[in-house]
Amino acid sequence: MIISRTGQYNPYYIQHTIYNKGKHMNSSLLGKSAIVTGATKGIGKGIARVLSQKGANVIIAGRDTILGQAAAVELNATATPNGGSVTFVRADVTLRADIEGLVATAVERQGGLDILCANAGAFPACKIAELTDAAWDALFATNARSLFACVQVALPHLKKSASGRVVITSSITGPITGYPGWAHYGATKAAQLGFMRTAAIELARDNITVNAVLPGNIYTEGLANVGPEYIAATTAAIPLKRLGTVDDIGHAAAFLASPEAGFITGHAIVVDGGQILPECPAALE
Ligand code: NAP
Repeated sequence: MIISRTGQYNPYYIQHTIYNKGKHMNSSLLGKSAIVTGATKGIGKGIARVLSQKGANVIIAGRDTILGQAAAVELNATATPNGGSVTFVRADVTLRADIEGLVATAVERQGGLDILCANAGAFPACKIAELTDAAWDALFATNARSLFACVQVALPHLKKSASGRVVITSSITGPITGYPGWAHYGATKAAQLGFMRTAAIELARDNITVNAVLPGNIYTEGLANVGPEYIAATTAAIPLKRLGTVDDIGHAAAFLASPEAGFITGHAIVVDGGQILPECPAALE
């Protein structure tokens, strides 16, 4: 018999406890097989950490073997008791053969594939006047074509999952906002959402959902050397008065990958501390 905290028998408490227990169990990604691309550092590493803390076995991918192996060691060392394993696989997402090897390794090591987090991306700044065709095409290969290729290669395996999930890391830049120097970057991030909407319809018949997270300004290793002025100026533009953490994005991605998000498809969650909301700087005074 379950007794309430006051020591009294309480049927509401019993029901509430059982409900919450069930909810907690359903929240778990225990035993799920996941791939996170671009997870040798930054946001992808944060997504991998949260997924593995929730019990998923995660393959992290990227091109830098030293960084990737170190990330896997770090994430395994800080795993929670019910946490899943983290394994690094070297893969360049602009190369289809690498993606095929990545997916094959995930399926072989983890017994299938349930979750694909297409996160790998680059954001080189270049003003339109100086931008070349080659730079435009290269960034589309990294940020947009890689999404299509990863989904296509993973598809036969996601179909076999009871609840296949694709979670895309897009950005507020492009789909919602603009920033000088990032016309090509913004175009790739908007392209990801265009792909997402039709993919969500095409893959729905196989019970696979396709959603995106749109990060605002997230504090990653890459920002460590930009200096306090940049951090202060960016922070001032965010209503919640802080930059995002990689785990902030990880939690949003983990929700979209979870059983609870099973009826959400073709949508994007903005995770930006309210950055896109002010109509003008005066709104933040
Ligand atoms: P980051 O710290 O530079 O990390 C980028 C990751 O992508 C690295 O793990 C890198 O690994 C990987 N990568 C890049 N090109 C790759 C390729 N061709 N093949 C495989 N992996 C590749 O950047 P981040 O800030 O975490 O960004 C991650 C994602 O979030 C990107 O899609 C970016 O557009 C998006 N985003 C970031 C922010 C932000 O504020 N940080 C905001 C909005 C959106 P290797 O170098 O080992 O290949």
